Amino acid sequence: MVTRKAPEAAAAKHSADADRHQSAGVEVAAAELLKTVVTSLEETSSSAAAEPRRLFFPDGINLISLSISIGNAKVELRVSSDAKAPEIVPPSVAVLAGTESCRDSSIFLAGDDLTIGDKVPASAESAVCGAIKKRIRRTDVEFKNLVANNNPLIAFKDEEGTGADRMMSTRLSERLNALAKTVDEEWPGTRLRVTEAWDEDDEHSGTSLHYEGRAADLTTDPVDPKKLGRLGRLAVEAGCDWVWYENSGHVHVSVKA
Ligand SMILES: [Zn+2]
Repeated sequence: MVTRKAPEAAAAKHSADADRHQSAGVEVAAAELLKTVVTSLEETSSSAAAEPRRLFFPDGINLISLSISIGNAKVELRVSSDAKAPEIVPPSVAVLAGTESCRDSSIFLAGDDLTIGDKVPASAESAVCGAIKKRIRRTDVEFKNLVANNNPLIAFKDEEGTGADRMMSTRLSERLNALAKTVDEEWPGTRLRVTEAWDEDDEHSGTSLHYEGRAADLTTDPVDPKKLGRLGRLAVEAGCDWVWYENSGHVHVSVKA
């Protein structure tokens, strides 16, 4: 997916119209450049020359971030996938993901909203939260360790109609309760919404922490994609151990056992 951040505030001497045109030009140029980058990365990482180790991420391209400035217009393009990031970033990736100045890297600093693809902390989920031990079923003894979250400040999608979305580890429940409170303070009238927590229907990838009730997918109620970047930051501040602004539709959070 491709996202773009709003161009920086234009200097007063430029008319808004001129900036809009300039910005659109940058967007087209940026999109073209990104396409070239993705194509060449795919060719490089799947070529014989890249063996025995693929040149970039071992499991495929994980995140491409592109920042382009022309005059007062600035476009940030990011593409992310759910390919696993290596725990140690090889130098080739560091060069690719590095920013040219501290000012640019400030978009990753605490206090700022997350942008699509951001992971906080920027490590593999399993390295931060610990790998899954088993898929918990209702009949398992481990199921008794899960709690039902009935916080009125949280909306649960519960599309399964089983209440499974309310089931989660105690730690996750505590963190979501803290987050629900800050969401209520940040946007009065808007609630934290959980679209998925514990999964008993094998709807996730094999090692997903959803199976242990240690992960949740979050949006807001009412749904507002524009709030997700801020929601991600609030989740970090609420103590969620790992926060991933996974795509334009939701934020995935997870906690340690
Ligand atoms: Zn998830």
